[in-house]
Amino acid sequence: MECPVCHQPMKKVRWDISHNPNNDNKEYDRTVYQCTTDDIWATTEIPKDNLNQQNI
Ligand SMILES: [Zn+2]
Repeated sequence: MECPVCHQPMKKVRWDISHNPNNDNKEYDRTVYQCTTDDIWATTEIPKDNLNQQNI
């Protein structure tokens, strides 16, 4: 994950599992990234069954 402003790699600050109640309680691997320079936060939620396609 790259910061959209300074294009430096963003720091992984938190990760956990989230559920989507609108989609059969599907599980997502949620990761929160931060760029400390620009105070920019980004969250990715990747379906658990799709982890092999994770490339960020
Ligand atoms: Zn940045």
